[in-house]
Amino acid sequence: MAIQPGKTVSIATRRVGLIGDPVAHSFSPRLQQAAFDALGIAAYYELWQTSADALATQVASLLQPYCLGANVTIPHKEAVLPLLDIVDPLAARIGAVNTIVHRDEYLYGYNTDAPGLLNALAEHNVGTRDTQGNFSLKGHTVVLLGAGGAARSAAFAVTSASATRLIIVNRSLERAQRLATDIGTRFIASPLPSTDQTETTQIFCLNDTKFLIPHPRSIIINATSVGMHSMHDVRTTTTQEHTEETSPLPSEVLVRFTPDTFILDMVYNPVQTRLLIQARALGLRAINGLPMLLHQGALAFTLWTGQPAPLDIMRSTIL
Ligand code: NAP
Repeated sequence: MAIQPGKTVSIATRRVGLIGDPVAHSFSPRLQQAAFDALGIAAYYELWQTSADALATQVASLLQPYCLGANVTIPHKEAVLPLLDIVDPLAARIGAVNTIVHRDEYLYGYNTDAPGLLNALAEHNVGTRDTQGNFSLKGHTVVLLGAGGAARSAAFAVTSASATRLIIVNRSLERAQRLATDIGTRFIASPLPSTDQTETTQIFCLNDTKFLIPHPRSIIINATSVGMHSMHDVRTTTTQEHTEETSPLPSEVLVRFTPDTFILDMVYNPVQTRLLIQARALGLRAINGLPMLLHQGALAFTLWTGQPAPLDIMRSTIL
């Protein structure tokens, strides 16, 4: 059922696509198309390169009968909210939508980045799940690098999973402060250590981490774009060897963390970042952004189709 470029697509075929700018580098088409094909769903995943000026028109076009919805990526995840009929409470709290569902002539907005991140951690045995399926990061300290869109999703995700401590490290301290305020915690700017371990978020400037105190059972999440291939150097394959030379954390800081530290670098292009190389050299467990990409995509697939995502098939297209 996969549609070849240039081939005519039947009107009965459902459409779903990625709204963003740029979109050409995305792994979502192969991830989602493999899932539709595996379940025999007549749907085609397209790339919808969309400028800010064209966003409202593109979103309105999702109301066409054959359209299942869309994924949304940089730079429209926030701007898309007022264009939707109903925004899921989690997405509204985060202030970012990455999945739109066309259902009963309404457009619904969701954020699957946040639960996708937690599913990626759970899959790597970080955190615990109770018998009801509730996931918890109690006892863990999350060191979140970044305060942009992806970091916002991560901050809401880990606080909703009861992480014991959150430390936000960002180049712009002001943006880190705003994020700490938005997630409803009081924040303490470095170098003062946190006294209240459950409700206080520490914030640090990315280039001044000398007072960052490593706690046992830390999870370091890189949600900055440091280490990512620059846009003019976008690769569309996961197998290339090239690694960017930059890392968001110097090795002198990383070396202070205990061996039970887990690192998730949201960057997946390149698949092997400088941060991952540094971490593995220190014997720390570390994964790139592909598991998170997989899980946010699987959740979006289920929202569009109402069916469980064929996770292993989707995984085989990107890992
Ligand atoms: P964004 O909103 O533009 O935020 C970028 C973040 O990176 C900000 O915290 C920014 O700091 C920081 N930053 C950028 N350039 C920097 C530099 N030269 N030095 C230090 N800090 C720098 O982007 P985003 O949507 O959050 O995406 C961030 C990363 O996450 C990207 O690599 C993206 O591909 C990845 N991501 C992965 C997934 C996944 O499923 N794996 C999902 C979403 C995003 P300032 O605030 O100081 O500008």
